[in-house]
This record gives sequence, structure tokens and C-alpha cells, in this order.
Amino acid sequence: MPENYEELLDIVLEQVPKAVFETSRFQVPEADISVAGNQTVLKNLRVITTALNREPEHLAKYLLRELAVAGVFKETQLVLQGKFPRGTVEEKIKRYIDEFVICKECKKPDTKLERLEKTTILRCEACGAKTSVRSV
Ligand SMILES: [Zn+2]
Repeated sequence: MPENYEELLDIVLEQVPKAVFETSRFQVPEADISVAGNQTVLKNLRVITTALNREPEHLAKYLLRELAVAGVFKETQLVLQGKFPRGTVEEKIKRYIDEFVICKECKKPDTKLERLEKTTILRCEACGAKTSVRSV
């Protein structure tokens, strides 16, 4: 049994797989949000999806569904028909990353989405894992 807190912490840290720390290198740009009237504009949707190596249309569709709001993706930005604080939008983007970008096995972001008929597969280029994800 560990004698003290430090020793316990050492043991805990040893048991955490390295991959958990490697994902911290993964940098996602902050959501650039502007609210005008009753609309919220996510100005850098394309920048975010480029960093994630995902199609902007895919994240746009996800956000519209998760926020349960109408909206339109135009070139680089997503216009939402409703008012949303940046925190709310970023929370949804984080969930998107967890679900559609990070490998379920090795926790790395080096993945691709592949569509096989009606199924969407998250394929990891780091460890080769394949996980089916829900369609958006
Ligand atoms: Zn993996």
C-alpha cells in the first residue's frame, strides 16, 4: 500500500497510458463567435475543421443538430438562427472531437472518417483501430 499522497500519485501517473498526454499536443483554434441580433456566427468553422482534418459541412451539420437550430454554412462560417455563447458552441465542438476525431483505442487525433454505405467508420492512422460512429 502507498505510504503517502506523493507515492500514490506516482503510482497513478505510472498507470496512465502515454497516449493521454500526447493528445494535449492537439491544438484546436478557439471558436470565433459573433452574435448579431438573433443570429450567432461561428466565423472560423472552416479553420477549425481544417485543424481537425474534417469536412466543414460535417461539423456544421453536427452543430445544427446538437444545438437544435436552423442555420447555414457559407464558405468559411456557420450562421446560426439563434443566440449562443461561445462556451456552448465550444462545448459542442469538444464533444464532436471526442466522438468524431479522437481514436477510441489510442486517443490520438490521427484519424479519418470513412463512409461505408450507411455506416460511418472512424479509422485511426496511428493504431489502425476502426470504430463505427453515428451518422450526422
Ligand atoms: Zn488509434
